[in-house]
Amino acid sequence: MLAPPPVPAAREPLLDVPVLGPDGAPLAKRILLAAPRGYCAGVDRAVVAVEKALERYGAPVYVRKQIVHNIHVVRTLERAGAIFVDDVDEVPPGARVVFSAHGVSPAVEAEAASRGLDTIDATCPLVTKVHREATKFAKQDYQILLIGHAGHEEVEGTMGHAPERTILVNGPHEVATVEVADPDKLVWLSQTTLSVDETMETVRLLRERFPHIQDPPSDDICYATQNRQVAIKQVARDADLVIVVGSRNSSNTMRLVDVSLEHGAKAAHRVDYAHEIRQEWLDGVATIGVTSGASVPEVLVREVLEALGEAGYRDVAEVVTAEEDLMFSLPKELRVDAAGQQDERALGGRRRLDWQRQGD
Ligand code: SF4
Repeated sequence: MLAPPPVPAAREPLLDVPVLGPDGAPLAKRILLAAPRGYCAGVDRAVVAVEKALERYGAPVYVRKQIVHNIHVVRTLERAGAIFVDDVDEVPPGARVVFSAHGVSPAVEAEAASRGLDTIDATCPLVTKVHREATKFAKQDYQILLIGHAGHEEVEGTMGHAPERTILVNGPHEVATVEVADPDKLVWLSQTTLSVDETMETVRLLRERFPHIQDPPSDDICYATQNRQVAIKQVARDADLVIVVGSRNSSNTMRLVDVSLEHGAKAAHRVDYAHEIRQEWLDGVATIGVTSGASVPEVLVREVLEALGEAGYRDVAEVVTAEEDLMFSLPKELRVDAAGQQDERALGGRRRLDWQRQGD
């Protein structure tokens, strides 16, 4: 079983301490709220898939790994009857299991089949796209240099589609030591949730060492990761502090912290919940940037804004760098209901911007 998530502590109100300029006069306090932020289409679809499975089949529904990397989402689904497990060998034979948005390797699918499990595949279609690329290039005898973070579930799943032909490259620092079989038969692919700038630097170094390396057929870093990084770059240059809402194990959340610091924010901190904001972070801070990772329900951002409002940051301006309207259809196992009718959500997950907190 996965470790139970921490329970949010009661929140102490933040204090409204004046911020003084160089001339001793108080500065206006404000928030720049990055947009897009929060839920992406793949997360929305995965969360709706678990809800739908619970609705249709009743509790418990097993979920391999965290359905998305957000502690609040996991806790809320647990309350509704989802049981999160580390691997399919913890699921009772014949039970139903949902694969998370990060995807699985063919070996995991085979093990689930051998245990007679009913599976619902909530892998994000943009992760599935990378799986297909890995399979295709492996069949054509390419060696794949997969740029990604060791140990991340998505990386394990993608490597599992071409285990004999994939080498993981953890970042620019690893390029010099990569050993390949044939420098003329190489392709690079990447995890979907990396820093765009750092990945491009890794690719630049790879191209220097292996001039004939092929690019992926299309961007592997997904639209949601890219859009959130573009928005926070614009915010960070004017921010004394950036607060990123999201969980520690969320790759795209952690990259938003990195990108903020690289693009002008004087400080950047990640919080799961508003109560984690520390009073001392606000010392001398006039402008706060706020954003959230792709697995974060908007309600958690609103709570952060409320907490900052208590500290005098009530002037909130949204900085919009892109509009998003992408939605994915539900996993195929959930598109048709028990009576054989097309589910009303079959053609797209709900946009869960208002996912309410349940009982925290
Ligand atoms: Fe899919 Fe990108 Fe969202 Fe991951 S962050 S679930 S790849 S849309």
